[in-house]
Parts: sequence; structure tokens; C-alpha cells
Amino acid sequence: MAYQYNQYMKHNYGAGPCILPQEVFKQAAQAVLDFNGTGLSILEISHRTSEFEAVVDETVRLIKELMGVPEGYSVVLLQGGASLQFSMVPQNLLGSDKTAAYLDSGVWASKAIKEAKLFGNVNVVASSKEANYTYIPKDFEVPADSAYLHVTSNNTIYGTEIHAFPKSSVPLVCDMSSDILSRQINVADFGLIYAGAQKNIGPAGLTIAIVKDDLLGKVDRKIPSMLDYKVQIDGGSMYNTPPVFAIYVAMLNLRWVKSKGGVAELEKENIAKARALYEEIDRNPLFKGTCKVEDRSRMNVCFVMENPELEKPFLKFVEDRDIVGLKGHRSVGGFRASIYNALPITSVHVLIDAMRDFADQQKG
Ligand SMILES: *Cc1c(COP(=O)(O)O)cnc(C)c1O
Repeated sequence: MAYQYNQYMKHNYGAGPCILPQEVFKQAAQAVLDFNGTGLSILEISHRTSEFEAVVDETVRLIKELMGVPEGYSVVLLQGGASLQFSMVPQNLLGSDKTAAYLDSGVWASKAIKEAKLFGNVNVVASSKEANYTYIPKDFEVPADSAYLHVTSNNTIYGTEIHAFPKSSVPLVCDMSSDILSRQINVADFGLIYAGAQKNIGPAGLTIAIVKDDLLGKVDRKIPSMLDYKVQIDGGSMYNTPPVFAIYVAMLNLRWVKSKGGVAELEKENIAKARALYEEIDRNPLFKGTCKVEDRSRMNVCFVMENPELEKPFLKFVEDRDIVGLKGHRSVGGFRASIYNALPITSVHVLIDAMRDFADQQKG
């Protein structure tokens, strides 16, 4: 065995909620007992205290810094997950007589389409549904009068990722839930970015949105306050009680991202992790990838076995090596290795070793 693994911790390949850095878990646990020497738990302090306002400020500041958010954009902390953004986006940006363009690249994209239809017209510009979403559609036209183009940067379930964002004259809206902070992007190319926190930002319960301010206030429908980006932005992400603990842990994780050298450094590591794993999938005769090679995700690596009967025994085999969360989504089957920022490359090598040892065992 080339790599020693910690007997107390699992190699967590879960798709979300997912692994966060161990030091974040420790700091979060400490704050449950005593937050910043206040003598109070982070679970009991008021969100209106100056101590917690500083947490919100730092969280927003770190997102801006780490992602290079330019002037003219607001970062806002929300709840309801990415799934609520599926309806918040059209409610705020799609006039009832207008049409929005959507790229259908997976289950999450199609859920976003379903919600948008409640508020206006939807033009599905391309879909890879006929191929069980194993690739990213690339040749499509976006009518210039579309309110926006909505894409999903990383299709968590299928393991595909947009490596070059489509260029069009209309605002680009992106569900970045599962690859935000994993690679450098140019925020100025987007009108609105949103992400549920539980994949690369922090624990479940927090959602972030990065909104180009001048897109707001253009639809004439009445929007419930909680679902109005403008109200949430003006309220400083505290229109109502925010998810205090989730924001605190997200802040700790953002500090960790910064301490690692920021998104550019993590991107290098993510490329190395994904490359090592895909190389083994392509090399090892027992396994094969499920997606078009050029569209492969660096966050969710989906693969199956040439002989499906070996899949259960392989899952058992890796469980004995403290690898958890590897089972694929029911709509793809096989395996999905989610290799988010916090999963160390040493864990990837534990999985690769297991794939090799399992193959040897089959021969023997
Ligand atoms: C997980 C995920 C969602 C759903 O997020 P919730 O926070 O559970 O609503 C949406 N889109 C993508 C790309 C995801 O990975």
C-alpha cells in the first residue's frame, strides 16, 4: 500500500453534503463550545451582535476576494438551497412576457427549467437528455432578445462540466453549486452565479448568490420579500435570521481556501486529482468512464465496471479501506467519486490503489 491512511477518518467521496477540511471541523466544534472567547456558543449568539456581523462581513469579503468579484456585483447569503434559486432567478429576472434560454445538461438544469416556466417563457436551446446527459451540448443559438441564458457549470449527477462557457450577448446565469471555488472563473462574464453551499463552500443550509446589480428591478411582477434579491442585498444578508452556524463554518472554509493559496492553487490540485483518477479508470481494464472525455468533470468522476456484477463486491472492497460515498447516483449507476476541494490527493491515491488491488485480486 503506497499511502497510509488515517484510521480515524474516512475518505469521503460523498457528492453533497460532503467533506470539508478537518481543521474546519475542529474550529467549528470549538465555536459550538465557545465562540471567539465570548463565553457563548455560536449556536446561541444573536445574529445582530457585532461579533456575528463581523462573520457575515468576512464571509462576503472572502467570497469577493477569492473569486475576484468586480465592482457592480453584490454577494448575498441566502437559504433554500440551489433549488430555491431555480425559482428566484426567473422571478427576479424573467418578465412574464419574456423568454429565457436554458441549457438542459442534467437533472438540476431540467429542474431549473421546470421552475422558470412558472414565470415566463422558456427556450431550451439544447439538451443532452437523449444521451442520458453524458456530454455538454455546445452548438446552439441563443436569441439576442432572451432575458438570460441559464447553464449548470458542473453536472454533479452525471459528471460533466462546462470547460468553456458559451459566449452570447445576453446575461449568463449559472448554477455553480458543485464546482464553485474549484477553478478560476471570470465573474464579469456572468450576470448571476448561485450555489448551494454544501459542495465546496460549507455545510448545508446556506446558499450564495453573486448578482450583477444592474440586472435587478427590471421585472414588474410583485416579488415576495424573502425571494427578492434586492431586499436580501439591502438587508445585508440579514433580512431575517440567517443560518448563523452554516455561515460561520463557510467563513472558516473560505479562510482555509485562502490559506491554501486561493482558488488558483486549489485548481491545480483539483486538476492533478482528477487526472490521476481518470488515468486509472482509462488504464484499468475493469473500469470505464461514463462521459464524453472532453466534458469530464473535475469534481464528480463517474465510472462503471465493464462487468456490472463486480460493482457490489468492489463497493464492499473499498469500504474495508474506509472509502465511503462512492456509490453512483441511481440515474447513472456504478460509481461517483466526488473529489471536492477538501478531499486530499492522498485519498485519491487510496482509491486508485484499491482499484488496482481489486483488479489483481480478480486475476489471482
Ligand atoms: C446539489 C445541486 C443542486 C441542489 O442543491 P440544493 O441546495 O439541494 O437545492 C442544484 N444544482 C447543482 C448543480 C447541484 O450540484
